[in-house]
Amino acid sequence: MPLFILGSIAYDTIITPFVRRERVLGGSATYASLAASFFTNNVHIISAVGFDFPDSLLNVFKERNISLKYLKKIENKSTFYWAGKYFPDMNSRETIIVETGIFDEMDVPEIINEKPKILVLGNISPVLQKRTIQSFKQQPELIIFDTINFWIKNNNKELKEVIEMVDMVCINDEEARLWANDYSLKRAARSFFIGNVKYVVIKKGEHGAIIFFKDGEAVFIPALPLEEVKDPTGAGDVFIGAAAGFLNNSLEISRDSIIKALIYGSVIASFCVEEIGIGGLLNVTKEKISERIELFKKLSSVIIKI
Ligand code: AMP
Repeated sequence: MPLFILGSIAYDTIITPFVRRERVLGGSATYASLAASFFTNNVHIISAVGFDFPDSLLNVFKERNISLKYLKKIENKSTFYWAGKYFPDMNSRETIIVETGIFDEMDVPEIINEKPKILVLGNISPVLQKRTIQSFKQQPELIIFDTINFWIKNNNKELKEVIEMVDMVCINDEEARLWANDYSLKRAARSFFIGNVKYVVIKKGEHGAIIFFKDGEAVFIPALPLEEVKDPTGAGDVFIGAAAGFLNNSLEISRDSIIKALIYGSVIASFCVEEIGIGGLLNVTKEKISERIELFKKLSSVIIKI
């Protein structure tokens, strides 16, 4: 069954304390779909690019069998553009430029007949996120949602409407706190359990992630300590994209399979941050994924003696 990923395709300018790269390929749909493609070969992107986006750049997706059937080219707008600057800890950043004009012209397909197993609502305008859910004639088994502070600040009402319609919220700690207006992550996580939401995943960058279940249980998903972090951009999108790809290939969507999927998400994200832009994802192999899974097992095998 197909996995659909809605999100941005972008030109990103990335500034870290060590490098500056202008207009590299990025965007939430780009990172998430590449990550998902390691686990499933039935990925559809729903997104748009502008007149300034050459067809040759689309080969990155085509080479990985990612379907572009629902990608639109909008001739009177330029591609979504984002510039971010990382602080010396390489974990926090500020957005310097964000040009969202293309989202005003972009529309999602009116009707999608294919039955999706999973729908990822990556970081993009909440208006498009809501319309995408409504496009499906048959509802997905799992809807995963992500957003960023920009939309929390500018489209709070629309965001709430979307959140109520999804199964899993997967969001950064900083954004969760902003949404809940509360420093406590536990309370912030609880505030997302509205409408249909059954799982809340709080991403904490280099400190891993925590999944909260509706019954109050929480499970910690570690991140691999790395020698070299060149560019954390897209790590969050890769995390959910890989997890969604893994679940799309799983027999059932259960508590156990979701935790396993998030561990794979953390593994693929560890490759992403080691290079600039999507570079870290391009040389990942099945063998390298298995090696890192073994490292994760060691990292998490604490024996608690009481
Ligand atoms: P992450 O580091 O996982 O938060 O994702 C960074 C990616 O999100 C970059 O490639 C950006 O192009 C994209 N992005 C940043 N801001 C937005 C926004 N407001 N809407 C959609 N995508 C965005």
